[in-house]
Amino acid sequence: MNSLDPRAPLVLDTRELGRRPGSQRELELTVPAPAQLGIEVLSVPEGSPVELDLRLEAVMEGVLLTGTATAALEGECVRCLEPIEDEIFARLQELYVYPDQHTKAAEHDDRDLDDETSLLEDDMIDLEPLLRDAVVLALPFQPLCRDDCPGLCTECGARLADDPDHTHEAPIDPRWAGLVELQQDTQHHQD
Ligand SMILES: [Zn+2]
Ligand SMILES: [Zn+2]
Repeated sequence: MNSLDPRAPLVLDTRELGRRPGSQRELELTVPAPAQLGIEVLSVPEGSPVELDLRLEAVMEGVLLTGTATAALEGECVRCLEPIEDEIFARLQELYVYPDQHTKAAEHDDRDLDDETSLLEDDMIDLEPLLRDAVVLALPFQPLCRDDCPGLCTECGARLADDPDHTHEAPIDPRWAGLVELQQDTQHHQD
């Protein structure tokens, strides 16, 4: 694992807390969104501001981080493909354990090291994995331009919300459609 860069926007230095349980620090910061923050159809545009309102609290095993992240979202409606602009508000909470404490706990419980545990590295926190998880969790699974978006017309692909009453000539009878295919097929063989 590469060591964390203390100057990276999503790396937080906790040394100020001095490993004294109970000491805390609040910080507000705005960081540029990393690439691909979100899901394919809805995400925070890369480089756009993510506002973080955080609180770091030293506890026995490590540092408890709580807070919120607010950012703009861009994406498209999964039914009609219209662009969507929205805002996301995600809650953050994670315990970052001192690596030495983590090893001790694992020995005591006689368990395998739990890979899910977030560790402090040189008393620094890498906020990016937590931010990614929190944003994805806070996103709607299927983003829609509006809750009752009627989607696209299956005949012509028109956006039904713009033109809800449009109609088409009766579709080709499926039996005739089969015949047309057959004719094309026959022609093909004659070539
Ligand atoms: Zn839509
Ligand atoms: Zn149509």
